[in-house]
Amino acid sequence: MELSQIEHIGIACPSLEEAIPFYENVLGLKCYNIEVVEDQKVKTAFFKIGEVKLELLEPTSEESTIAKFIEKNGGRGGMHHIAFKTKDVAACLADAESKGVRLIDAAPRKGAEGLNIAFLHPKSTCGVLTEICENPKEK
Ligand code: ZN
Repeated sequence: MELSQIEHIGIACPSLEEAIPFYENVLGLKCYNIEVVEDQKVKTAFFKIGEVKLELLEPTSEESTIAKFIEKNGGRGGMHHIAFKTKDVAACLADAESKGVRLIDAAPRKGAEGLNIAFLHPKSTCGVLTEICENPKEK
């Protein structure tokens, strides 16, 4: 598959309200977007450092996979996923599948910031939840 860069790193956190001040006041980054992604039952906050974004994820429902992740993590947040950028998510999924990789998403779906995204299963990615994303505006 053809990946161009790390698009973002996903970080689960129980509360954006508590997490954002660390990134702004300690790390000196600026939150430039907060967005609810209904589909994934999360509220996201974005920061940018160089070409890479940080995506903080707060669950908006107990049903959210982020809520379950935090619960497993003793109620704390933590590194949740790494997202790679490509020009063609569907092609990457087909390629991964042909190599025996287990997919979470069989087809691209809408993520935050208007990106088309898909996840590969951590069982097939050395334990790291891996997201592939494309910006349809750059197609
Ligand atoms: Zn992500």
